[in-house]
Order: sequence, then structure tokens, then C-alpha cells
Amino acid sequence: MSDPSEHGGPAGGASERGMPGAGLVKGLAVTLKTMTSRSTTQQYPDVAPELPPRSRGVIALSEENCTVCMLCARECPDWCIYIDSHKEEVAVPGAARPRQRNVLDKFDIDFSLCMYCGICIEVCPFDALYWSPEFEYAEYDIKDLLHDKDHLGQWMATVPPPPAHDPNGEPAKEETAAARKVAAARPTPPVVRPEPGADPGPAS
Ligand code: SF4
Ligand code: SF4
Repeated sequence: MSDPSEHGGPAGGASERGMPGAGLVKGLAVTLKTMTSRSTTQQYPDVAPELPPRSRGVIALSEENCTVCMLCARECPDWCIYIDSHKEEVAVPGAARPRQRNVLDKFDIDFSLCMYCGICIEVCPFDALYWSPEFEYAEYDIKDLLHDKDHLGQWMATVPPPPAHDPNGEPAKEETAAARKVAAARPTPPVVRPEPGADPGPAS
């Protein structure tokens, strides 16, 4: 037969649950504390919410930084980035042949599919995509949630500046890796062994 105290039965006793009525007092204390503290309700849209500056509102495109590498479109889990481009020949003074460069024709993001994961921004190697905290771009027609490159470019004006450099912060991973490479490439000084029978010098 099982012990009723294991199941919180009568044998568990009031001592395990504390004084009778303690739960009620605790609950009333929470009620009183909530009643006397200031309300935190925000009267949106009359009062704009104070969002953290790095909030994920909308994605902004810096078109001049985009090299049409297609990494963002390939990594997007929702396949909601659409890019088109064409190649152009650029004459380089002194070079035997003209260089080719990609020219961006289309860069659309469909925010009706986007899940705001931020992968596209993380993977972009050329700092062409940024988060803007702007979130007021709801539309009556879902088709209007497809933002083209001009629309995405307009969001750049709302991207907050990067945080100030912290002199006491951790060094960047790139800096640490470069320092490690330099240290590994430096030749190690040869170990000088004392001649047999030579004076070993003063003991430390
Ligand atoms: S935030 Fe995520 S889902 Fe949205 S476009 Fe970028 S990669 Fe795609
Ligand atoms: S990853 Fe960056 S550079 Fe490459 S296509 Fe996307 S936005 Fe342009």
C-alpha cells in the first residue's frame, strides 16, 4: 500500500504546506503590490513605444554595397528574397581586358513570407543588409508587403548607427585570429644548452 503522504494526502500535513491561509495572504500581497504600482500600459498608437534600437522591424538594403553574390537569397529559409542582375563590362585603365561586374536589377523581399530570422543580414559579406526598428508598414493588400529595392533602400534612413567602440571590449575574432597567425609564423629562438662542465651561473 502506498503512503498517502507521497501523494499530498492528509498524512502530508499542514506543516509541509506551511501555515493554513498562508497562500491566501501571499496572493493578497501580490494583488496589493500590483494595485499600488504604476501601470505600464502603453497607449499605442497615440504614444510611440520605446523599442530597443536593435529591434527587428524591417530589413533595409544598401544597394551600393550589394555585389549580387546571392548568398542571402540562397540562405533564406523562406525563399522570400528575389534577386535579378545583369553583367556589365567595365574598362580598367592599364588592364588588357575589361572587367565584368554584376549590376543589380531587382532585389525584392516579401515580408508576407519573411519570418524575421535575420539569416540574410548575418550572411551578407558586404554589409548590404541591415535591421531597421521601423515596424509600421502594415498593408491592406498582402501583395504590397513585397518591398522592391527602392523601398528597401528607403529604410536605410531609419537604421540606427552602430554602437560606439568599447575600448575595454573583447577584441574582434578577426583580430585574435590574425594575432594567432602572426605568432605561429614567428620563428622560435633556438634553445642554447650549456657546455658540459660549464659554470651554470648563479642559482635563482
Ligand atoms: S529575415 Fe530570414 S526569412 Fe526574412 S528575408 Fe531574411 S533570411 Fe529570409
Ligand atoms: S548577400 Fe549581401 S551582397 Fe550578396 S546578394 Fe545578398 S545583399 Fe547582396
